[in-house]
Amino acid sequence: MVLLKCPVCNGEVQVEDDALPGEVVEHECGAQLEVVKEDGKMSLRLAEQIGEDWGE
Ligand SMILES: [Zn+2]
Repeated sequence: MVLLKCPVCNGEVQVEDDALPGEVVEHECGAQLEVVKEDGKMSLRLAEQIGEDWGE
């Protein structure tokens, strides 16, 4: 597990160390956080709400 910081509430978020970029974790504050990997370092950002409007 890695401890990352929640960009919303500044609290600690536990993420699996093998979490994949793009994986979304839910924090206890209710925020949906997306795992981002840059230069081998993991961080979190607020996940965008993905609309279901892919439209075929
Ligand atoms: Zn939070």
